[in-house]
Amino acid sequence: MRSFWLQQAFDAESASPVPLEHDLRTDVCIVGGGFTGLWTALELKSRDPSVDITIVEADLCGSGASGRNAGFVMTWMSKASTLLKICGGQEGVRLLRESQAAVRAVGDFCDAHGLGGHFRRRGWLWTASNASQLGAWNETVEVLAKHGLEPFDLLESCHVAELGGSDRQLAGVFEGDVATVQPALLARTLARVALAKGVRIHEKTAMTRLGLGSSPVVHTPAARVTADTVVLALNAWAHELPVFRRSVLPIASDVVMTRPIRERLEEIGLHTGIAISDSRLLVDYYRGTPDGRLCFGKSGGAIPFAGRLGRRFDDPSVRREELAREMAYHYPSLAGVDIASAWRGPATRTATGLPHFGRLPGAPSIVYGHGYTGNGVGPSYLGGKILASLVLGAKDEWATSPMVEQRPQRFLPTEPARYLVGRLVLAAVGRKEMAEDAGRAPGRLDTALAGLAPSSLTPVVKN
Ligand SMILES: Cc1cc2nc3c(=O)[nH]c(=O)nc-3n(C[C@H](O)[C@H](O)[C@H](O)COP(=O)(O)OP(=O)(O)OC[C@H]3O[C@@H](n4cnc5c(N)ncnc54)[C@H](O)[C@@H]3O)c2cc1C
Repeated sequence: MRSFWLQQAFDAESASPVPLEHDLRTDVCIVGGGFTGLWTALELKSRDPSVDITIVEADLCGSGASGRNAGFVMTWMSKASTLLKICGGQEGVRLLRESQAAVRAVGDFCDAHGLGGHFRRRGWLWTASNASQLGAWNETVEVLAKHGLEPFDLLESCHVAELGGSDRQLAGVFEGDVATVQPALLARTLARVALAKGVRIHEKTAMTRLGLGSSPVVHTPAARVTADTVVLALNAWAHELPVFRRSVLPIASDVVMTRPIRERLEEIGLHTGIAISDSRLLVDYYRGTPDGRLCFGKSGGAIPFAGRLGRRFDDPSVRREELAREMAYHYPSLAGVDIASAWRGPATRTATGLPHFGRLPGAPSIVYGHGYTGNGVGPSYLGGKILASLVLGAKDEWATSPMVEQRPQRFLPTEPARYLVGRLVLAAVGRKEMAEDAGRAPGRLDTALAGLAPSSLTPVVKN
């Protein structure tokens, strides 16, 4: 099932995929044609136009999370506590500022390639939509202030309800540097620009096996690619490789898109393009589109079994009704509104809530970047810089950043515990959050089980 965004992007295209049919040799083989793989290709070309690059993509470029997300182009400010703990003050502040610059860079790319109308920098409202969420941002705001950063405006409650268009928004903070974009158009345009710069792109070409060694070999159904360096830009699908199975957890996130309802959005103020998410663990996130629709998403849909993502991450959303109800919880005036499309995609979770970058243990010619934990549209631009520096063997601030780790940090148990405990925890979190919405105290067992889940916006690194 293609997302609304992908369908819109494909409707405007005539190009056909070119699967790989013959063995080839290349300087850099990038596996995965989402934002990470495509920004890496463009960054490499901008640093050294002579580098020969081949992208192999199992489906179509942008068909993974990159073309299915809600299109929030966020900074790393909401993850500042963790980032500063991992990277230290100086590097942490540099990366936080770079994450703001990344939003501007995505906007510049959109302007330069005719997507200006699909990119709107109207900020992000981070809210509490029930009493248990109040103050979820406090630690982040305090830590940022200690480092001389004040990206969030602290708003009066009445202003939050006005800006968010609903009395359900009890309190919140606003970050002006965040934007929204049509993500699939961005991904498809990145692919088109990469092709124009001489990058070979083979879609409908899955890596079936990876041969390690000083010249790694990417095996695909019909042919092999031998490369000096391989970049694994697989995000959620990295979980299918045993080496990453315990360090990155795919979690399906579901999205519904309404039919155009411009007047109703104008009444509640969501027509501007402001991005909003609350502070629950199974986060509710939403934004208006330039053509007057509401795009509404919720995390926590499904987890993989035995290391395979399978169809449950690609099928039409099974949570369509649940999301429609949740939308009406926040905006009673939108109850019963027509849903034009409902889909799902694989988001990821790491131990820290931040992505992992590095060289494959024992195979330094293979580098990887994945695990953006619901915040990859903006940060994948920085992922491209980090991966390009690793590929080129640069000794710059990107390659030497503490974001580049020696070994992926494991936090997941093995199967069957991973699946069984994961299902139990997700169900408990759902019940706990329903009770909190209703103003009831959640059950003790649900609270205890929910405590096993790392949060996506609040800090998760322990001192
Ligand atoms: C529903 C949803 C909503 C989200 N909302 C937001 C949001 O609003 N803002 C935000 O910042 N982030 C959001 N995210 C996260 C964001 O979409 C991702 O962090 C980002 O797209 C990651 O890009 P990527 O290129 O690393 O991964 P992907 O776009 O997933 O790319 C990985 C690619 O690898 C390919 N692949 C897989 N296996 C193979 C193989 N064996 N061989 C070759 N290719 C393979 C896949 O087909 C895929 O195209 C959301 C995610 C989801 C699922």
